[in-house]
Amino acid sequence: MTDLATSTTLDVPSLDVTAVRADFPILARQVHGRPLVYLDNAATSQTPRQVIEVFDDYYGRYNANIHRGLHTLADEATAAFEGTRETVRAFLNAAESREIVFTRGTTEAINLVAGAWGRANLTPGDEVLVSLLEHHSNIVPWQLLASELGIVIKVIPVDERGVLDLDAYRRLFTARTRLVAVNHVSNAFGTVNPVREMAAIAHAEGALILVDGAQAAPHQKVDVRDIDADFYAFSGHKVYGPTGAGVLYGKAGLLEAMPPWQGGGEMIRSVSFETPTTFAAIPHKFEAGTPAIAEVIALGAALKWVDALGLEAIGAWEQRLLAHATARVLRIDGLRILGTAPGKAGVLSFVVDGAHSQDIGLLIDQLGVAIRTGHHCAQPLLTHFGVDATCRASFAAYNTLEEVDVFAEALERVIGMVR
Ligand code: PLP
Repeated sequence: MTDLATSTTLDVPSLDVTAVRADFPILARQVHGRPLVYLDNAATSQTPRQVIEVFDDYYGRYNANIHRGLHTLADEATAAFEGTRETVRAFLNAAESREIVFTRGTTEAINLVAGAWGRANLTPGDEVLVSLLEHHSNIVPWQLLASELGIVIKVIPVDERGVLDLDAYRRLFTARTRLVAVNHVSNAFGTVNPVREMAAIAHAEGALILVDGAQAAPHQKVDVRDIDADFYAFSGHKVYGPTGAGVLYGKAGLLEAMPPWQGGGEMIRSVSFETPTTFAAIPHKFEAGTPAIAEVIALGAALKWVDALGLEAIGAWEQRLLAHATARVLRIDGLRILGTAPGKAGVLSFVVDGAHSQDIGLLIDQLGVAIRTGHHCAQPLLTHFGVDATCRASFAAYNTLEEVDVFAEALERVIGMVR
């Protein structure tokens, strides 16, 4: 454990955290009379003014439905919306912008794959591999499909550090394995999974791989072509963007071969009662109805904001925060960290003897510190580790070492109160 606290790199690309913080109006607020220390970034990150301003600009200047109108406002809104598609393409290093489908978030993206690809390609007895580290949103869609189609879900196990067992992973494959659905970074423990290697193994076995990138996109450069991911999903609100806008990347050939998921306007080529209705080309085939236009445009602004800082600098800074926080909390008697994978992301999950996580979360909020407590939508993982809840502090570009100190001192105080 001590290794974890001291082994992170000191060669940190520079991040001007004071300047970063100035972009976030919310960081100036007080909670219960104290300066807010926001450490619930794995749930939702805060939003810089460059993203907030998109909403004023859009609704104040060019609010219109996209793709349909011939008027100026519709043209401007369409250009900004489609411009974000290109921003996302570059962000993920996808080959083509038509491989980028806008969704409400990661959950909807995974449901889209389960509903469209899964229903069209899976038959009773086919197998989907998920890992024990998954968020419920990468478990339940496959369970729903299992009860509908009779497919089989197999679980990739983890070791005591929360690291996936790759030998066990290899052994899980059979002639019936069709898909691996795995997260890039675990939201509960911060484990960074070797998705590139896992993709190569899946492909060698004739299976596809869907990567849930909700916790990776905010912290490290993602290259879907280097990973060779067949599908990759992430959410805007975890990457300094708004809620309601997320992304499904899919290889063009796969998306083209998939049937539509939801039906409605925007996703058709022609509709008739006499002849079969035909569908739009990708990605529009998967974007039925009016999308979250302002949110998608704001997502584009968020990704540009992230790019300007650089994910390398963000990730390195978060590692420093994690190392400092780890060293500080390990001084607390009876505190146990769950998830000790080498090179893990900026997530610190822990339990404390004699103190329930819920109590810690409520009391520490009274001291202005926002952390997450609960099962983090990863109940199978927590059950495996014999707990029903943990406290989780998770870091973002705007957090400071001083905030980590405030958090650690508040934690010590709160634990003293409850035990
Ligand atoms: N996958 C992971 C790893 C997550 O951490 C989350 C959110 O916490 C999700 C999926 C679901 O994301 P959303 O609720 O934005 O759809």
